[in-house]
Amino acid sequence: MFPMVTGFMSYGQQTVRAARYIGQGFIITLSHANRLPVTIQYPYEKSITSERFRGRIHFEFDKCIACEVCVRVCPINLPVVDWRLETNIKKKQLLNYSIDFGVCIFCGNCVEYCPTNCLSMTEEYELSAYDRHELNYNQIALGRLPISIMGDYAIQPIMNSTQINKIDKDKPLD
Ligand code: SF4
Ligand code: SF4
Repeated sequence: MFPMVTGFMSYGQQTVRAARYIGQGFIITLSHANRLPVTIQYPYEKSITSERFRGRIHFEFDKCIACEVCVRVCPINLPVVDWRLETNIKKKQLLNYSIDFGVCIFCGNCVEYCPTNCLSMTEEYELSAYDRHELNYNQIALGRLPISIMGDYAIQPIMNSTQINKIDKDKPLD
C-alpha cells in the first residue's frame, strides 16, 4: 500500500512540473507573438546601417601622400600603395592605390590612422561578385561615392530596433 502512495505522489509531482514547463514555454511564445519580424525582404527592403557602420572603404586619391601608414597599421598589410619619388620636388607621387575587399576584414585601422583622412568607411555592404578578383578595388573603384539606399525609391529602407529607440529618445517631450 505504502509504495503505491509514494508512486502516485511522485507521478503527481512530475505532472505538475511538466505542466509548469509547458506554461513557461507558452509564455515565451506569447511574448514573441507581439513582435515585428526581424527578417527583411531583401533586395526589395534593405536595412539602414548604423552611424558607425564599417562598410566599403572610400578613398580620395588627391589627398593621399603615399606615406604607407595604412599598410603598416593593417593587420594583413593589405593596401597596395604604388608610388614614385619625384626627385626635383623631393616628394612621393602616388601612382596607384588598391584594397582587396576579398581579403579585408573591415577593421577600420587604415581609416583611423591615415594622417590626411583620405580613407573613410561607407555604409555600402553589397560587395558580392562572381569573380573574387573583382573585389580588388583600385583607386577609381575606391573613389566611387557609396550608393545610399535612402535615395532609391524602389527600395523600402528598414530601421533596426536600436535606430527606432534612438529616434524615440531624441523626440522632444510633450
Ligand atoms: S595612410 Fe592615408 S595618406 Fe598614407 S598612404 Fe595610406 S591612404 Fe595614403
Ligand atoms: S579595414 Fe583593416 S583589414 Fe581592411 S585594409 Fe583597412 S586596416 Fe586592412
